[in-house]
Amino acid sequence: MQSKTALITGITGQDGSYLAEFLLSQDYEVHGLVRRTSMIERSRLQPLFDDKSLYRKRLHLHYADLDDPTTIRRVLTKVQPGEVYHLAGQSHVGLSFEIPESTCELTAMGTLRLLEMLRDLPAPPRIFHAASSEIFGHPQDMPQTEQTPLNPSNPYACAKAFAVHLVRVYRDSFKLHAVNGILYNHESPRRGDGFVTRKICRAAARIAAGLEDHLSMGDISGQRDWGYAPDYVKGMWLSLQHDTAEDYIFATGKLHSVQNVLEVAFARVGLDWQSCYRRDERFIRPSDPTRLVGDPSKAETVLGWQRTVSFVQMIEEMVDSEVKLISSKE
Ligand code: NDP
Repeated sequence: MQSKTALITGITGQDGSYLAEFLLSQDYEVHGLVRRTSMIERSRLQPLFDDKSLYRKRLHLHYADLDDPTTIRRVLTKVQPGEVYHLAGQSHVGLSFEIPESTCELTAMGTLRLLEMLRDLPAPPRIFHAASSEIFGHPQDMPQTEQTPLNPSNPYACAKAFAVHLVRVYRDSFKLHAVNGILYNHESPRRGDGFVTRKICRAAARIAAGLEDHLSMGDISGQRDWGYAPDYVKGMWLSLQHDTAEDYIFATGKLHSVQNVLEVAFARVGLDWQSCYRRDERFIRPSDPTRLVGDPSKAETVLGWQRTVSFVQMIEEMVDSEVKLISSKE
């Protein structure tokens, strides 16, 4: 096993890009799977592409879709990674109601196919699977732990729950070193455009710059356990360094409301959020779990995992990044 070679599915995403940076900083050779798309949008990896000492030297990209096992098998055989970080997926809960079949195909069956491929290798690598707090649905436990029963309430969560169970089955039955990281929401300036924190931070910056005059949103009382993405990718790595393969919750243990995001984001640009926000019923989504809060004590105790950035610092960083983006286009 080449312990310093990692393969990342979903390397172009928020977490994949931070994880690639982190692993490269730890002297790993990093391989990422990328999809062929009509527009090649890999801006999150741009800092790494710009570093000539890294790109195509210690960072390599391979074309492969998760529904294309032959190609993935070929990459696995060629690269022989010591660690696989399985992050690829349709990551938007709301969208999973619109495209349930492809969400399940990619997230549930895609994970099964990957586990099967790893199982067939003579020396299977360790694998981290990016699970989600959404698997708990509307839980009785507050906060949730690794023992909280799964009760998914949307297609995304059903697919993730299926994948979580499979990871456990392959760990127990085939002795794969397979870890579920049960990730609560985590954000950063690289968060996808469709997510509420990004939407609010972008709107605050645009309204402050005079580019828009209000922000339309659904319910803002919903609460989330929001952490900082770079902290969470460090947790992914720590979980694969541990001698035994187990499941871990990565969370802050604290709830903040969407209104709290509005308050911090608009204050950062010197605006009163109430004068900029308009409630819009079209953005209310069905069966929205609002009481998900995780207990990260296992990851803290067993892995020594720590969070470095607070909720307020994170939202402020996201707003600052949007302000910078606007100025760079002027
Ligand atoms: P992103 O949406 O930012 O990234 C998703 C990645 O998956 C992208 O690289 C995307 O590629 C890739 N992908 C999507 N479809 C396919 C496909 N058919 N074949 C190959 N690759 C594909 O998600 P995040 O980085 O935020 O999240 C990473 C993982 O963690 C996801 O599985 C997500 O569900 C999970 N998670 C995230 C949470 C969060 O708060 N961020 C919370 C809980 C779980 P492309 O760039 O081509 O679209």
